[in-house]
Amino acid sequence: MGIRAFWIALLALTVIASCSVRQPEISARFYVFGTLVDVLVRDTDQATADAAFAEIQQQLQALHRDLHAWEPGPLTRLNQAFSLGRTVTLGGDIPILIEMSRWMEEMTEGRFNAAAGALVALWGFHTSEFPVSSPPPTEYDIRRILMMGPSTFDIHADGQTFSSGNPAVQLDFGGIAKGFAVDRIIALLESRGIDQCMVNAGGDLRAVGGSNRSPWRVGIRGPEGVQVGIELAGRGAVFTSGSSERYLEQEGQRFPHIIDPRTGQPVSGLVSVTVVSDEGWFADAAATALMVAGPDEWQQVAADLGLESVLVIEQDGNVIATQVMAPLLIAEQKVISAIRFVTLPAGRFSEG
Ligand code: ADP
Ligand code: MG
Repeated sequence: MGIRAFWIALLALTVIASCSVRQPEISARFYVFGTLVDVLVRDTDQATADAAFAEIQQQLQALHRDLHAWEPGPLTRLNQAFSLGRTVTLGGDIPILIEMSRWMEEMTEGRFNAAAGALVALWGFHTSEFPVSSPPPTEYDIRRILMMGPSTFDIHADGQTFSSGNPAVQLDFGGIAKGFAVDRIIALLESRGIDQCMVNAGGDLRAVGGSNRSPWRVGIRGPEGVQVGIELAGRGAVFTSGSSERYLEQEGQRFPHIIDPRTGQPVSGLVSVTVVSDEGWFADAAATALMVAGPDEWQQVAADLGLESVLVIEQDGNVIATQVMAPLLIAEQKVISAIRFVTLPAGRFSEG
């Protein structure tokens, strides 16, 4: 072989090699809990991706069926048993979600409360149709539930058998299930050796395999006009909880679908909270809890939860973010310079 033919052959080989290493992105779209979920994988062949997508489809169907708060299924059966004082034997993912929710309830001193589903239902939020236009509940109806003080700590587990000493306990995993589902998808992809992927559930997402050289770039879900992105090198979850998308509207007044379980009233004061953390379930639930904490308490509750990266948008449009978040943010300079950066106080429950 002449020297020229050698170089051409070598060149051809290199091109083939780099093709098999650097394959294009492959994506698929799914649906769970009223949200479209986009899954994006990099550096994987089509067959591996397709097999993973088939499994994801199955898993999401199972999660949707098992964790839905009002479509008849295991969770509605469990809630019915609680209200009748009966016991139920359960497998699947509900027990672990009860555990996670209990921990969140404890760490947020009841601001996150997955047992307060009766309040969510009372406000008409067990629906897919937004905005809700039914009248707000009466103070009397709210008080009847508050008096019973539903809590995930009222749930007793005996092996796989569950019961509640409090008939007002109604589980609603709306504040945590989306994150849990995203985690499940990531785990499934990783178990198949896919180590570069992003799962985006309507702006709430988790990514794996970004690097400093090619980080994942994602937009934060926020009110119109606030355009801020985040750069994720490595892995991380970005979840936003907000008051501007799902709400009840009455006589021009808007009541968001996040309820303060201690007052029975929808939250006010913050437009949105974005949390960056390692796991989806935690970022999801934490964002919901900080919406409840509101403008005066979110920094303390974030610290109690051990969070570092949080960005909140207040009702009047002010954007506040933790200092740790600063290097992750991408936005126009005038947007960045309008952000107030804060350092969180010490957490109250840390063991250190
Ligand atoms: P979104 O992502 O739509 O902004 P969240 O993640 O904050 O919403 O979840 C809101 C849902 O969480 C509600 O629809 C309801 O099912 C549930 N929820 C509402 N208030 C609370 C609360 N204080 N603690 C736990 N779950 C809640
Ligand atoms: Mg949430």
